[in-house]
Amino acid sequence: MTIITTPKKAVAEDVIKDASMAKQKEMMAQHFDRLSDAPATGAKVASTFVPGNLNELIMCFDIVNNLPEVNAIQMGLRKQSGGYVMEAEKHGHSEDVCTYVKSDLGMMTKGNIGPNGRPLPNPDVLLLSYTGCFTFLKWFELLREQYKCETIMFHTPYMGDGKITKEMIDYMVKQLKTEVIPKLERVSGVKFDIDRLREYLKKSQKAEDNLVWSLQSARNKPSPIDAYFGGIYYIGPIFGAFRGTDDAIEYYNFLRAEIEERVKQGKGPLTPDGDMGKERYRLVVEGPPNYTHFRQFWKMFYDEGAVVVASSYTKVGGTYDFGFRHDPAKPLESLAEYCLNVYTNRNLPMRVDMLENYVNEYEADGLLINSIKSCNSFSAGQLLMMREVEKRTGKPAAFIETDLVDPRYFSAANVKNRLESYFQMIEQKRAGARSAA
Ligand code: SF4
Repeated sequence: MTIITTPKKAVAEDVIKDASMAKQKEMMAQHFDRLSDAPATGAKVASTFVPGNLNELIMCFDIVNNLPEVNAIQMGLRKQSGGYVMEAEKHGHSEDVCTYVKSDLGMMTKGNIGPNGRPLPNPDVLLLSYTGCFTFLKWFELLREQYKCETIMFHTPYMGDGKITKEMIDYMVKQLKTEVIPKLERVSGVKFDIDRLREYLKKSQKAEDNLVWSLQSARNKPSPIDAYFGGIYYIGPIFGAFRGTDDAIEYYNFLRAEIEERVKQGKGPLTPDGDMGKERYRLVVEGPPNYTHFRQFWKMFYDEGAVVVASSYTKVGGTYDFGFRHDPAKPLESLAEYCLNVYTNRNLPMRVDMLENYVNEYEADGLLINSIKSCNSFSAGQLLMMREVEKRTGKPAAFIETDLVDPRYFSAANVKNRLESYFQMIEQKRAGARSAA
């Protein structure tokens, strides 16, 4: 695979992007073309999900991955998801169902045209490799009815006690050996080669190191990146179809060099309107973003000089910042450990600890929760988490509500009002601290 080089700073429509963002977009476009070309090339396709995806394993069978959540996100960014969500509702799917699911199902009934404007192929296999969100199970049951293809369920135990035990790993490795690998061999006709897997995992490690470095660069003041809005671009290749590839290594080397340059120049993040002005607020954000009004949402932050220095969402496809790396010396065990470590597989006390640490470690002014109407995996317990982080850090926290890809649940005026009140709250806290000093 190759990466197309891009100019230093790319301007698409009226949006200013870092060269790494433009590069990421090209990689994604190449991947969608690979999917659309599958019927012609004969490549087998697995539908699977972002959290706990087994990209390195899938590649061992020459299978290409198709991620329905990523398709829904792309449709949200292109403002097409609203129509698909309503289409799914017309077919009886309730208003409360996750809107990624409804966007995907609606898109399917309308010809399954992907973000590249070409039809996406039917999957040869449905690989459910992370079960921390119950919606995933139901989603694939619906897809199974439609496609009638092989379905693999790889069960990931929930980290209810806040730790990974040997029994959990053994249980998952056994499933890989007896269920997942034999079925992938059957679907693909390719024999499993563990040394091939080791090679991919070696590549994953390198990309993971630079992803972590890039996200942690937000410890600088000013932060050279926005670890939520910008972070979404940065996690794309590793959480998507590129983990384990040379492309991912090249992308994260490139990203790191770009950020190093921004740090050297003392610059804050690049926003769609150009370099962000003075950094006034440093925030930690919990929860996924809204995609239908992505740019408008981001603007509400950077117009006020607010930068997100850490977010839980950039850990949804794997938590690497606590040291986990895919390990070629323990290939199957590390795939299991990776799935167990997905952010939403962590119990609430672990999530609270994580957010508290982020507020302290990144010297943030507080915690903001973006509660997603239709995502129970993230939203359950968020108010409690907010109060606890507020109590432990002494920093103000705030709560806003939007949705993933349903434009009906993004109320710009409400969100803006709440953000403005939150920034005032931070100012008051600062003034209080100054007068107490
Ligand atoms: S984690 Fe949330 S957004 Fe993802 S599938 Fe589950 S409910 Fe939907």
